[in-house]
Amino acid sequence: MRTMIIAGNWKMYKDLTETRDLILALKAATPSLPDRVQSVVCPPFTSLALAGELLKGSAFQLGAQNMSQHDEGAYTGEVSAKMIKATGASFVILGHSERRQYHGETNELVNAKAKKALAAGLHPIICVGETLDEREKGVMVQVITTQTKGVLAGIPAHDMANCVVAYEPVWAIGTGRTATPQQAQEVHQLIRKLIAQQYDWALAERITIQYGGSVKPDNAAEILTQNDVDGALVGGACLKADSFSAILKAAKV
Ligand code: PEP
Repeated sequence: MRTMIIAGNWKMYKDLTETRDLILALKAATPSLPDRVQSVVCPPFTSLALAGELLKGSAFQLGAQNMSQHDEGAYTGEVSAKMIKATGASFVILGHSERRQYHGETNELVNAKAKKALAAGLHPIICVGETLDEREKGVMVQVITTQTKGVLAGIPAHDMANCVVAYEPVWAIGTGRTATPQQAQEVHQLIRKLIAQQYDWALAERITIQYGGSVKPDNAAEILTQNDVDGALVGGACLKADSFSAILKAAKV
């Protein structure tokens, strides 16, 4: 049985006061989670330390939204794996499509970041996903294959066991347009097969593969019941405690 992980990507929302309010509301709404369901909140860097303090002893874990591929040095504006870990975080989202689109992140860079995250003891949530143009051109399988192989290249099996993969079709992120449960299942199955080819089926069956793209309280249950969908990466709907809590209630294993 795989662990179901529901992660909330706060993106560039919530200052410190808003962070406190949302976390207190989340803790009140969700004092505990079922066995094998985990939830991760991923606020902006500026809120990580505060969130780490507030989440101690709660049902939630903490994650960052990005990370440098370097250990330390003259890299203005960057944040290292060690710094993230020190806030109490245990997860980090890597290769989100907004990082790829607006900051030029490539599969190679995401792969380098994933290796650094793993070396620091963080669980990377590694994102892959095709654009609408790629889906309409019929090259989705090639795109997902190239991305998955690229971001996982050279990661040894014992580290792979600590990775989460998120399938996030770019056309479904922040658009209100969700992949159908069948579309999600098809790609999740493909990703699991690619992991099995690189490692083996026993390991592939243990890897949590999240779906992300306009997951809301009213569509979460249907997507999460698909065989190979093991959680969700939630953007817009994680910014309010009631909608994120409703998605968590839909997560059953
Ligand atoms: C995301 O930011 O990863 C995401 C899936 O956003 P949304 O849920 O708003 O589509």
